[in-house]
Amino acid sequence: MADPVFKGSFTEQEALPQAAIDAAVELMKTGRLHRYTVGGGGPSQAALLESEFAAAIGQDFCLAVASGGYALQLAMRAWGVSGDEPVLTNAFTLSPVPGAIAAVGGTPVLVETTPDLTIDLDDLAAKIAASGARLLLLSHMRGHITDMDALCALLDRTGVALIEDCAHTMGAAWDGRPSGTFGIAGCFSTQTYKHINSGEGGLIASNDATLMARATVLSGSYMLYGRHEAAPAPDAFGDAPLECPNMSGRMDNLRAAILRPQLATLADNAARWNARYDTVSEALRDVPGLRLTERDPREAFVGSSIQFFLDDLTADECEAFVAACHARGVELKWFGASKAAGYTSTHHHWAYLPPQQLPRTDAILATLFDMRLPLTFSRDDCALIASIIADCAAQFAEPFLPRAGVA
Ligand SMILES: *Cc1c(COP(=O)(O)O)cnc(C)c1O
Repeated sequence: MADPVFKGSFTEQEALPQAAIDAAVELMKTGRLHRYTVGGGGPSQAALLESEFAAAIGQDFCLAVASGGYALQLAMRAWGVSGDEPVLTNAFTLSPVPGAIAAVGGTPVLVETTPDLTIDLDDLAAKIAASGARLLLLSHMRGHITDMDALCALLDRTGVALIEDCAHTMGAAWDGRPSGTFGIAGCFSTQTYKHINSGEGGLIASNDATLMARATVLSGSYMLYGRHEAAPAPDAFGDAPLECPNMSGRMDNLRAAILRPQLATLADNAARWNARYDTVSEALRDVPGLRLTERDPREAFVGSSIQFFLDDLTADECEAFVAACHARGVELKWFGASKAAGYTSTHHHWAYLPPQQLPRTDAILATLFDMRLPLTFSRDDCALIASIIADCAAQFAEPFLPRAGVA
């Protein structure tokens, strides 16, 4: 019998919930798409989304903006990153993270990666000392959360501030505390491939009134910041409206309207993602030569994607493995490729950065594979996908067997 092929799409998201569609249609009938156009008095959809998200993660303030990358830029600018300042961040992350540091005039200082895809705390300590950086932009890349207790202790000891990039940890927690609440600000993305979907969008959550007043003005609030519900009170704005330039990057009411019903189902969807993640990870756990990341019991993650390693493969074999999976309908991303492809790139491809030596990260990325787990996949789909990966991996795990099917 021919080898089974998976026919689903790795980029197909679920339809928006009917409540989101209805809210969008109702809003469009009013024409009040701009967040400060409140008609009957407000609060606007954007203001309501901010209040609901702040409440969901237990923070005082929240600001909705145009994208996740913009949220990172704004949080850093509001905190006070200045030109040419070094900013620490994970070497293993997505391009908008070093891009956000560059956008505010900072210089990314990349920190090595552990075999479990979290930030390497020893290298972080060394780079804090060597760089003199005042800020860590911590990226919970692909939802892998470092030991936040150890990290926060290190940052406290060294006086380094923390902003969290929670693009992949919306709905996740460390030891019961929501991701994004450990530093001075947490930044989230509502881009289509994250955990709630408005096409583009971002959220900043914080308990710091000064930072959030500045962020609100920077986002382009004109003199209408009194129309926010989850911003500091107007009298806390002080000179921010005079001192902060308008860097227009607001979220509109249409996107906020379709996000609010999704916020309500985030926890259910996290459980659905994790059911898919568990199906794949349990099937892959015993595949010879394949390694999954170890996850700390304190980490409550959202399994919207899965990562694994085939540590013994050469670069050519990795490429052949991706091709073999692809031929059977399974789309993997490989972080060891010499060229950037689609969303997948590494520090070698970010040529605007000062070149940095990251031998441990390079060794880890060389055999790292990454796969989306959209909610449009059933658990049977996930089981089939895992069996295809296992089949293809087996072709490489036992070199004495003929590598059938690999071109
Ligand atoms: C998606 C993503 C972002 C933000 O991306 P936007 O497309 O700007 O919303 C930031 N960090 C990581 C790790 C991401 O994957």
